[in-house]
Amino acid sequence: MQITAYPSFDLAGKKALVTGGSKGIGLAIAAGLAHYGAEVMITGRHEEALIEAARALNAEGGKVSWKISDVTSKEDVGALFKHIDAEFGQLDILVNNAGMNIRKLLVEVEEEDWDRVLDTNLKGIFLVGQQAAKRMMEQKNGRIINISSILGKVGNSLQTSYAASKGGIDQLTKVWAAELAEYNVTVNGLAPAYIKTSMTAHFLEDPERLGKIVDRTMMKRMGEVEEMIGPTVFFASDASSYVTGQTLYIDGGWTAN
Ligand code: NDP
Repeated sequence: MQITAYPSFDLAGKKALVTGGSKGIGLAIAAGLAHYGAEVMITGRHEEALIEAARALNAEGGKVSWKISDVTSKEDVGALFKHIDAEFGQLDILVNNAGMNIRKLLVEVEEEDWDRVLDTNLKGIFLVGQQAAKRMMEQKNGRIINISSILGKVGNSLQTSYAASKGGIDQLTKVWAAELAEYNVTVNGLAPAYIKTSMTAHFLEDPERLGKIVDRTMMKRMGEVEEMIGPTVFFASDASSYVTGQTLYIDGGWTAN
């Protein structure tokens, strides 16, 4: 048998947007995409953090720019895409990463908690994804990667709003994959378990809770942000050309248990 082409993970010449790229998982993903050759724009709500993140990535040889943009605001997202049109002229890769959590029991969740979490995690992905899809459909090429969570699949307490948002994301991944496949745009999700970032820092200070969490993984540990890079580059590159509508669990085996 003759293999006609081996897959490439090279992202040279690609333009990528990572929402919530100023820290944590988004920052690691931005670093990874830049390392594999993409030009990357990161967003968030805080200028200082974005400047610092872009400076650090550029010092490592990346080509990284930033723009303040709140994913919950249609106006901000509109302005972001005007900026992308002017600066990039195309958009090849979108990583819908910006997210947050308010951990409360069902009986304690306030309406404004629900709105904040759903607006950021679900409406944000819709607003940004819609703008990206319009451009990618015209280009007849693109990669959308939605950052979900194992909590979109498994039942854990304290996650009413968050689990609803992440379960919604998993469905959007499938629906968008169905709509965009004919335009050569793939849509996939990455669903981490607990990764060490500011979102999960409180677990590290509570050995008992941490023990319970890592015990649910097969690998008996939390994940590192760097461990999100390989799966992201796979979905962003030609190597995943026949994969769409899937959510991959980056969870040390948690959901296979
Ligand atoms: P962090 O809190 O470390 O980072 C969140 C990022 O999102 C920051 O850059 C933040 O910047 C940005 N952000 C938050 N709200 C908004 C907004 N309204 N508009 C634009 N940007 C925003 O979180 P993680 O890195 O841990 O999480 C990243 C993603 O991964 C999230 O979607 C999260 O749900 C998901 N995830 C994380 C897990 C974990 O264990 N850490 C597990 C499973 C999923 P700023 O505050 O400046 O806006």
